[in-house]
Amino acid sequence: MTPSSSSTRADRYDYLIVGGGFAGSVLAERLASQLDQKVLIIDRRNHIGGNAYDCLDESGVMIHRYGPHIFHTNAERVLSYLSQFTEWRPYEHRVLAQVDEKLVPIPINLTTINTLYGLNLDSAGAAEFLAARAVPSTTISSSRDVVVSAVGEELYQKFFEGYTRKQWGVDASELDKAVTSRVPTRTDADDRYFQDKFQCMPLHGYTRMFEKMIDHPNITFMPSTDYSQVKDTVDFGHLVYCGPVDEYFGFCYGKLPYRSLRFEHSTLDQEQYQHVAVVNYPAPEVPFTRITEYKHLTGQKHPKTSITREFPTAEGDPYYPIPAAENATLYKRYEELAERTPGVTFTGRLGTYRYYNMDQVVAQSLALFARIAQEHGEVPEAMAA
Ligand code: FAD
Ligand code: UDP
Repeated sequence: MTPSSSSTRADRYDYLIVGGGFAGSVLAERLASQLDQKVLIIDRRNHIGGNAYDCLDESGVMIHRYGPHIFHTNAERVLSYLSQFTEWRPYEHRVLAQVDEKLVPIPINLTTINTLYGLNLDSAGAAEFLAARAVPSTTISSSRDVVVSAVGEELYQKFFEGYTRKQWGVDASELDKAVTSRVPTRTDADDRYFQDKFQCMPLHGYTRMFEKMIDHPNITFMPSTDYSQVKDTVDFGHLVYCGPVDEYFGFCYGKLPYRSLRFEHSTLDQEQYQHVAVVNYPAPEVPFTRITEYKHLTGQKHPKTSITREFPTAEGDPYYPIPAAENATLYKRYEELAERTPGVTFTGRLGTYRYYNMDQVVAQSLALFARIAQEHGEVPEAMAA
């Protein structure tokens, strides 16, 4: 259903869903279409889609307001579920890093090594090159260990040290190994950022896909509405909370740390700015982490082009849960409290404090729906997607 603010006290919803990102929208769609539940989604932002929201800027160039979102998954179930709401444009993501005045592929691969060091190695030679520099470790526990044990100190410093410090505000040695494990090391010339089976972008954008997803008579969407504004006035059966779990509980155990970003969008009077969608800037002297040029992602033809620089910050919207041991311990306390709170389910990247990609959040919502369907006595396999 289209956005509405005409909900009155008399309206009764089976579910109130806080947050119109992937977590909330997928669950709303399943509940409405498969279990005939009446759902109200609210979002404090003025749009659907959460962080995946895209829109035309003032010049008519399609941008991602909250930074580049590239869809990739190995889960056919997730792709086929989303395919009900969008067609796709094939797209394989490639990223370059500005290192030693050169633009080289990241993840580090054969071309990266040959270009940086003026060599002409083959794959076996690159493997030997890295093995000679790698610092083997019996226990790989931090994000620093992951990289140093694969490529050694020098490449770690060139590509990871500065970027990670800027992005997370701490040294990679203080971050869970999962963070830099997202970026592999390769000795062949494969320069794709991801190797997932399915890599594509929604043909008409994420926002259009979300609009179709929630276009159901059982779903009402209220933008620009904070949970605090409606919690005592809306009549609902069950609450699904996709916002920050610590905020819901009034930070009773203290604040869970999140990393934020300031996005600097600009439109340039030229057709193309850079050769690939994303260029990373790991050098500590450069205050931003990466520049994205959206036309590579969207395939849009336009005489102008729009780019975004990302400046990591400690304050601001909570974009990234920070994977580190003490944060996991604090989250555990909130998780236990959540389990003892009847009538509320926490989900999504913020609700479960997990550094999830979009496809993982879709899978999480489909799994949550399957559990709810079972409670309703329905067979989830037949209904999940
Ligand atoms: P969100 O999209 O954050 O949605 C939560 C919503 O809840 C928000 O819209 C928020 O306004 C709302 N909300 C919170 N609290 C309240 C409240 N009290 N009242 C009302 N509303 C509230 N994933 C990929 O797969 N590929 C990528 O390339 C990729 N790039 C990314 C780049 C950046 C810069 C970031 C930050 C993330 C990226 N991700 C990417 C991850 C992706 O954004 C998330 O996996 C996904 O958006 C999470 O969906 P969600 O619904 O859990 O959370
Ligand atoms: N990273 C890095 N240098 C790079 C790319 C990534 O140090 O050129 C590290 C950094 O810590 C980053 C993490 O690897 O936060 C994960 O990278 P990814 O591109 O997956 O980050 P995201 O797209 O989620 O911001």
